[in-house]
Amino acid sequence: DLSPPWHLASNQALYTSGGGNREGCRAAGVPVAGYDAQWRRPNVTDKMYAPSAQMAEQAHADKDTYEAMYEASIHDPDAFWGEHGKRLDWIKPYTKVKNTSFAPGNIDIKWFEDGTLNVAANCIDRHLKDRPDQTAIIWEPDSPTDGSQHITYTQLHAHVSKFANVLKELGVGKGDRVVIYLPMIPQAAYAMLACARIGAIHSVVFAGFSADALAARVNGSEAKVVITADEAPRGGRNTPLKVNADKAFEKITTDTSMLVVQRTGGDITMKDGRDHWLHELEAKVSPDCPPEEMNAEDPLFILYTSGSTGQPKGVVHTTGGYLVYASMTHQYTFDYHDGEVFWCTADVGWVTGHSYIIYGPLANGATTLMFEGVPTYPDAGRFWQVCEEHKVNQFYTAPTAIRALMGKGNEFVEKYDLSALKVLGTVGEPINPEAWNWYHDVVGKGKVPIVDTWWQTETGGHLLTPLPGATSTKPGSATHPFFGIRPVVLEPETGIEIETIEAEGVLCIADSWPSQMRTIWGDHERFEMTYFSQYKNMFFSGDGCRRDKDGYYWITGRVDDVINVSGHRMGTAEVESALVAHPAVSEAAVVGYPHEIKGQGIYAYVSLMAGQEPTDALRKELSDFVRTEIGPIAKPDLIQFAPGLPKTRSGKIMRRILRKIAENDFGALGDTSTLAEPEVVDDLIANRMNR
Ligand code: ATP
Ligand code: MG
Repeated sequence: DLSPPWHLASNQALYTSGGGNREGCRAAGVPVAGYDAQWRRPNVTDKMYAPSAQMAEQAHADKDTYEAMYEASIHDPDAFWGEHGKRLDWIKPYTKVKNTSFAPGNIDIKWFEDGTLNVAANCIDRHLKDRPDQTAIIWEPDSPTDGSQHITYTQLHAHVSKFANVLKELGVGKGDRVVIYLPMIPQAAYAMLACARIGAIHSVVFAGFSADALAARVNGSEAKVVITADEAPRGGRNTPLKVNADKAFEKITTDTSMLVVQRTGGDITMKDGRDHWLHELEAKVSPDCPPEEMNAEDPLFILYTSGSTGQPKGVVHTTGGYLVYASMTHQYTFDYHDGEVFWCTADVGWVTGHSYIIYGPLANGATTLMFEGVPTYPDAGRFWQVCEEHKVNQFYTAPTAIRALMGKGNEFVEKYDLSALKVLGTVGEPINPEAWNWYHDVVGKGKVPIVDTWWQTETGGHLLTPLPGATSTKPGSATHPFFGIRPVVLEPETGIEIETIEAEGVLCIADSWPSQMRTIWGDHERFEMTYFSQYKNMFFSGDGCRRDKDGYYWITGRVDDVINVSGHRMGTAEVESALVAHPAVSEAAVVGYPHEIKGQGIYAYVSLMAGQEPTDALRKELSDFVRTEIGPIAKPDLIQFAPGLPKTRSGKIMRRILRKIAENDFGALGDTSTLAEPEVVDDLIANRMNR
């Protein structure tokens, strides 16, 4: 029952012949929800950039290799992953590969289930023979004048072994939980790898989170130890992390101790019997810590989702499948080769940091850069200065950062030598074509391929992404599935798969892949409800998407955020991208609100470029602009100028809050624990548009 891999050349005949016998639900007379052609912005979205011959030549995969590997991965997942699982060192090799069920009432996902391995040994020990003196981690501190550190694989081994013995000293053993609440310092990497080494399950909590959020995550996982630091420097200011952790401990009900890293030497108080300095314990323990033998299906970590659509979910990832997929995507998506310098700007508090700062790169023996600071400190050239200084080859960031930097002017980019850049990546939200073009033209000088990677905390690694030497890209499209991924587009109400090449609806994944989440920590029922109950036998992503005439996938926004204007369903992404295409606009978010005639109207929140005046004339101009860019139905009914938009701590726009404001319902804003700047919301409420 395989859906055709729409994007493969070998299947062109299937859809250029008008769909053949694959008319699907359209032929059956089921109305297909979604856009008509009138919603497209053809001039923007049909541009294509082919990989250069040189890139294709040296890449791990060119177009033919990708297509052959993709087909093999779908045709026989056991054989494909059985082979690629060998990229890791196994203590006891697996004999079984895939054992997964999405059947209602029996959601059960196992990969490599009889194999054993250790993640830290794969990320460190096995590289000691070939690359003992190669830099594993380049650490770039908040302040450019403080100087970076280069940590070799040999040094990493020593740090992690000691750290692991400290955790043992504090009573942590296999299966115990450890919460990591640290800034972006090397000790965050050591802590994660130390847990992996002794088989403890880590739960990293972003250092920007409040004491309450920390306490909830510690209590939820009954963690034995919380690892924190005295202070966290960021953007020139020090966050009092230890003080926050102390506050959290007032609400922590479990028997938990605290391990403190000295980062700034700031003044803090240690509680006797509960709190310990890392450096003091490290001085006492043995430098030798043999890695624990773990089953492939033993949990590696718990990590909470960003909380964009509601209460964050405690996602559980396991050992073998996760590492196979993280390392393979790191190698192919970024076309990583030995000796290159890879930089992912995410925080280790997000899955992007887990898979593409720590586990994927280190499993591949890469040099990975860890950055403590922010993109705009000391000025908006900081990213590019770091790229120049460390000759970064692959650079991976989020659309929110690209949009922010785009608004600051090109001179910050042009000052620096970015000639080492080979691949540019993006993740986290749909990237507006305007931001994509800026990234491509100004940062990449029109020569560096962009990989727009669509994935989630739940998926562990990239699911839809171009490969630099294989895929022709279109600005704003996440293009094609990675090996082993079977995306399907479903009609939202009926759940029927849309089998025509052009499709728009709900994005689901029809079969398991190795780094799929296994459960929600402590709540398997919520796991089944959230991901497998709406549509049977599928993993439900919660995102809407469209597949275009060339088989390219475009994420249209969250299914929860779909707007229904006079019976036409619209994702948020395209309307927002049309607004961002206007030169006065730096960022935009649209939501639906109740409208007497149309059912729902479109309410747009618009942030302007520096120096732009928020006038009624501009309001009208923007409305008209969207009308000509897309069509009359997408024209915003109300436009509110907003100096800031509510975002999660990971930088995603929280439309559910904007919807509440547009609906005039400020009483219940829902879970705001992951909201970055709560003051933004007060301002939006105060300046709400009257109808
Ligand atoms: P929650 O699940 O708690 O609401 P969240 O979905 O924002 O939060 P994450 O797992 O951090 O939590 O983010 C995954 C989501 O981010 C995806 O479902 C998708 O909506 C969005 N996303 C990530 N990468 C891309 C991309 N390249 N293009 C479009 N959207 C993306
Ligand atoms: Mg989500």
